[in-house]
Amino acid sequence: MNWCMRIGLLAGLLTTALAPAGQGQAVVRGADDRFKADILVVVAHPDDEGAVTPYLARSIYDLHKRVAVVYGTHGGSGANNYGREHAAGLGDIREMEARESCTRLGIKNVWFLEGKDTASQNVLNSLANWGHGANLEKLVELIRLTRPDVVITSLPGIFIGENHGDHQAAGVLATEAFDLAGNPVMFPSQLAGASAHREIYLENLEAWQVKKLYYFPDANDEKQFSGAGPAYSIWEVSPSQKKPYWRIALEAATTHLTQYPEDIERIQKMSDAEAQKMMRDPDTAWWTDPETLVFGKSFFLTKATDDVFANLEGEPNRCLELSAKVQRPSAGTTVKLGGPWGYYQSFREAHCLGSLRVPDPPEIAVMAGSQVYVPLVILHGTNKALNLQLRVEVPKGWKVTSGEGEIDLPAESSSELRVEVQTPALTVSELKGNTPQEIIVHALVDGVSAGDIQLRVQLRSHALPQ
Ligand SMILES: [Zn+2]
Repeated sequence: MNWCMRIGLLAGLLTTALAPAGQGQAVVRGADDRFKADILVVVAHPDDEGAVTPYLARSIYDLHKRVAVVYGTHGGSGANNYGREHAAGLGDIREMEARESCTRLGIKNVWFLEGKDTASQNVLNSLANWGHGANLEKLVELIRLTRPDVVITSLPGIFIGENHGDHQAAGVLATEAFDLAGNPVMFPSQLAGASAHREIYLENLEAWQVKKLYYFPDANDEKQFSGAGPAYSIWEVSPSQKKPYWRIALEAATTHLTQYPEDIERIQKMSDAEAQKMMRDPDTAWWTDPETLVFGKSFFLTKATDDVFANLEGEPNRCLELSAKVQRPSAGTTVKLGGPWGYYQSFREAHCLGSLRVPDPPEIAVMAGSQVYVPLVILHGTNKALNLQLRVEVPKGWKVTSGEGEIDLPAESSSELRVEVQTPALTVSELKGNTPQEIIVHALVDGVSAGDIQLRVQLRSHALPQ
């Protein structure tokens, strides 16, 4: 007998769901408690977990909560700042760095989806490159396996900040999975009971409704989220670990050597006083204090700022606030921002996220000297062909390169367009103190306004492609 057969036979004996328990008695095994989580963290890349590790340290060490983490990608498309390995090889290393970081926080249950690290600010690019459907199915399965009360993930939205499309994609998938995992008709083969002695298709998991969803932002200005959810001090000293939560989080982050080896080396040489000084200075601190978890939604009625673990049962939330918060296009021809902005408007409506904070006017940061594009959707109001005029106002020194003027639109209910603007290539010193500026698109049909679109754009020396 070869080893595969031996292992197969042994596995067959061990995995029988109906196990004999004495004479004439049988026991149906329950869900595997080793994998039950209180919090499931869903992030895009190895090291993204670091955004919430001060709160995770609090919940693991002092609230005795069980935490599991799902990474959307292996993070293989970034630069290797430590060794020579790149691409998939770098992804293999980053998986280990992430696992080691989680282990330091007492997190053992860590999974990776099959998303591809995508360098762009557009969540739709990430969703396309990740394989949205297959990874969503996998995430729903992991929720059904880990049965968390709370999911914490990246904020799906567009902000001046790193604004990584993959971070947003993690937030999109987690939000979708929140709504799907409890629905028994979604991915039913995950729920179907074993029908054969050695079942190889049906998973025998249980439909699971996560109770609460929180986000952490990828924006430069985290203070804008103050009051948008519960806030936790990163300076509070852990009663069990006798050190502040930021310190525990910082120590866990030092495994990510392929990402920021110089910072890690510097931090490891710091005295306690020097590390405290670094964390007190808003320009060098790794976390904003207090750390706000942006409230996404709750299955039961709760207030946004209530504690993460408050109201895990009670009166179901029927999403009543929604219609007041989401703007619907009026009758007649109207223009709205398209692309990821248009998608997010529908996303917030579909997932009952009407009270989520959204920059007004919409905003983005791009690299100085790059093109910025303004995606537009023209809602015809009828199915008739239209003659549209677009007039674009740009800041001094910026240039409209396409999309302006008179445009004939076909007979359809909505048309997608884009305006492209060339931004000036400013030097680092010219960019100092630079504030966001506005692009305004005026849309007219037969000389009558169909609305204006504003986009606030900040120029930077470096930014991911829009
Ligand atoms: Zn990341």
